[in-house]
Amino acid sequence: MVKRVLIANRGEIALRIIRACRELDVETVAVYSEADENALHAQLATRSICIGPARASESYLRQDAILSAALACGCDAVHPGYGFLSENPDFADRCQAAGLKFIGPPGDVIRSMGSKAAAKAMARAAGVPVAPGSDGPLESLAQAEGLAAEMGYPLLLKASAGGGGRGMRQADSPAELESAYREAKAEAEACFGNGDLYLEKLIENPRHIEFQIMADGRGNVIHLGERECSIQRRRQKLIEESPSPALTPALREKMGRAAVSAARTAGYVGAGTVEFVLSPSGDFYFIEMNTRIQVEHPVTELVTGVDLVKEQLRVASGLPLSLRQEDVRVSGHAIECRINAEDPERNFMPCPGKTQFLHLPGGPGVRVETALFTGCEVPPCYDSLVAKVLAHGASRLEAIRRSRRALEELVIEGYPTNTHLAHLILHDPDFVRGQLDTGFLDRKLHGLLEVLRTCDRLSEGAGKERT
Ligand code: ADP
Ligand code: ADP
Ligand code: MG
Repeated sequence: MVKRVLIANRGEIALRIIRACRELDVETVAVYSEADENALHAQLATRSICIGPARASESYLRQDAILSAALACGCDAVHPGYGFLSENPDFADRCQAAGLKFIGPPGDVIRSMGSKAAAKAMARAAGVPVAPGSDGPLESLAQAEGLAAEMGYPLLLKASAGGGGRGMRQADSPAELESAYREAKAEAEACFGNGDLYLEKLIENPRHIEFQIMADGRGNVIHLGERECSIQRRRQKLIEESPSPALTPALREKMGRAAVSAARTAGYVGAGTVEFVLSPSGDFYFIEMNTRIQVEHPVTELVTGVDLVKEQLRVASGLPLSLRQEDVRVSGHAIECRINAEDPERNFMPCPGKTQFLHLPGGPGVRVETALFTGCEVPPCYDSLVAKVLAHGASRLEAIRRSRRALEELVIEGYPTNTHLAHLILHDPDFVRGQLDTGFLDRKLHGLLEVLRTCDRLSEGAGKERT
């Protein structure tokens, strides 16, 4: 087993990795920025090292500083978590070159999956259905116009290097193509330093269904079932669950086989996710592969009982996976609500600040992943995710009711969060019926915010009566 792991990340995912390491007697080295001096990950690791100022480009993205910290502390492996350097193939290569195990797939695999256009070509070669679109990146607007005329509308322009819902624009008619092309290209260049775009047919009213993959580099490639992530805002996930209410055993089997086949063809090693959109008629299409541990991985852990981070550590240590496909059992139902420091009333604008008071939910079937504590600062320079509230139940309804009561117990004071919005979604009749698609929240947001405002007014009135 690896002996000492440097964790090149912060927040809840850094804690998640520290916890897995401690249970395996693996030492941990945390790196932190000046903004994270008091952060929990810096306190809970065996050792911690400051690597630079608050800005991610001067700390958590500084490959040289992270590599020297790892070498100076005698680490033998680096866990990149998600975000930051997790999908940077050069960083994976540099870790390997420095004699450090990178806890993730080889640099070349990250490189080929990092280009979403190339990843689609690979999936097609593996016999996996892909959303129809351009073969590889577009050369020009004129080429896009020609292809779009053949394919028909509506369609999506997508950044080949894209992620986190960025660099993507929809065009519903030829008149919209030019502005969609220019906007997607500008955003892709600004966010990813790479303006390559490709065209993809828009699948209307789809669900987002993804499969968790684990591969040990010794030929054992398995999937651990699906997660439904259709509750999204700005094409970013807000609520995820497993199993998906939309999948029959036959469809699960078919999509799972496709996901494993894509991972096998890619030469995949470690934990990864194969993402699909599923049309209302039951056709599914590969959209991309994420080559890292994902934010919503605990949903899968709750229903399968498998500790995915420990499996990652095993694979990085050259050990086989602890289970085979036939050992994977899905039991009950799990739901995750992502809690962000953001204001749903102001287009989900991030709202960092000081945590004046914190109370976390507990009790049967509840799991909370967070690095918050009363008094801690949520710095403005990083992702706004502050907590993940998960519930596991024997049935989907029990998981929903447990999630609701967990969110009722959650108190975060000091900045706005999306807690009440998530709580309302869990009461929505379509949500309860499992009638979901990726447009769910866009359609309902206005009405849900109205309800929130009314609740606020009523509780203010009740307060006045009491005083
Ligand atoms: P996932 O399914 O894991 O959420 P996404 O593509 O939506 O995959 O994005 C990954 C997640 O990683 C985001 O939800 C966000 O919270 C986080 N993330 C993305 N980029 C960064 C970054 N530069 N720093 C920190 N976290 C990030
Ligand atoms: P990212 O890398 O930003 O995560 P994805 O390609 O995974 O980008 O797509 C993000 C989201 O955009 C999906 O979850 C889905 O809601 C939507 N989407 C992507 N491709 C399509 C498509 N072809 N048709 C309909 N919706 C899509
Ligand atoms: Mg995606």
